[in-house]
Amino acid sequence: MSAAAYLPAPRLGEWLKELSGRYLVLAPQARGDTVVFAPFTGDAEPVLDRDAAMPPKQAVFPATEELLRYRRVKDPEDPGKVDVEVSASLRAVETVVFGAKPCGARGFLAYDRVFRSPAISDPYYAARRAKTLFITMACAAPGNSCFCHWVGSGPSDSSGSDILLTPVADGFVVQAVNERGEELMNSPLLEPAGTREAKAREIQDAAAKALPAAPDISRAKDSLMAVFEDLAFWEEVSAKCISCGACTYLCPTCYCFDIGDEDKGMSGRRLRTWDNCMSFRFTLEASGHNPRPTKAHRLRNRVGHKFSYYPALHGGAVACCGCGRCVRLCPVSVDIREIVLAAIARAARVREESAHD
Ligand code: SF4
Ligand code: SF4
Repeated sequence: MSAAAYLPAPRLGEWLKELSGRYLVLAPQARGDTVVFAPFTGDAEPVLDRDAAMPPKQAVFPATEELLRYRRVKDPEDPGKVDVEVSASLRAVETVVFGAKPCGARGFLAYDRVFRSPAISDPYYAARRAKTLFITMACAAPGNSCFCHWVGSGPSDSSGSDILLTPVADGFVVQAVNERGEELMNSPLLEPAGTREAKAREIQDAAAKALPAAPDISRAKDSLMAVFEDLAFWEEVSAKCISCGACTYLCPTCYCFDIGDEDKGMSGRRLRTWDNCMSFRFTLEASGHNPRPTKAHRLRNRVGHKFSYYPALHGGAVACCGCGRCVRLCPVSVDIREIVLAAIARAARVREESAHD
């Protein structure tokens, strides 16, 4: 990390207004009792004392996105012949996401391996990703559902960010993570950080120490495979799930989508929308067969994907940033941490029993 500066808290609004002149600035804002990322207009202060219910994934991966428009054109010489005119709809605007927690920005690293791999680059995702910058806010006080440190991250992890802010007395220490971040710091509102940089480090260290010791989940990948066929286990851990899908829609690392056409007479548009693997219809085949017919099968897939199949495909990287949203916001308190630990314990027991046979 390079240059560090200090932004007095009363100047935060001015800085965001300044950035709004060059970027679409998305900031966490109150909507009733909840906090969401919405365009910053200067009418209200960003909400920084609690995490947004929805991570800022809409900035790069919108819930609904138009991929292309088409129009059928009849050949005037031969009415039975129809041509189709197609135009791509790639709209990406220069965007700054302000005030996400480190986990909310780091979630996109899981997306990058899928949508921006050397083998396949999704042009819609890649264009938005290239134009989106993240000014994240280090967590000074992680919540009790946070477990970023289980998955190799931490409350001041800067790995998905361009700038990391740390709240200190009366303001923020502003640290550029890369050159793009340094460019954003080119503002007369920022002052030299001075001794506040050391204070920010103390706050970051204290937040990391406030988290309880992380269990060793290095066996999760193999353990989840070992209990894959153990449907009794999956029925037990999914018993209270109501298949609402909240855990997937709110997850910063869930990226499944569906593509469909919205047809209106001779023209229409092709849309990509988020999909949700906890829904019965996600794998429902046209024949009526469903390879994941129960919520036990579906939760097995969700947990297995994040902690076993994705790591198997991506050099061990886990598709979970430990934000704890699915723990906090599940209406029936299904806890992914408990499921991973239970799978590790169950697999170990089976291993021990078979060693004694
Ligand atoms: S949020 Fe909870 S209840 Fe809803 S699908 Fe996810 S695990 Fe099931
Ligand atoms: S699985 Fe849960 S804890 Fe992990 S990134 Fe998704 S919402 Fe956050």
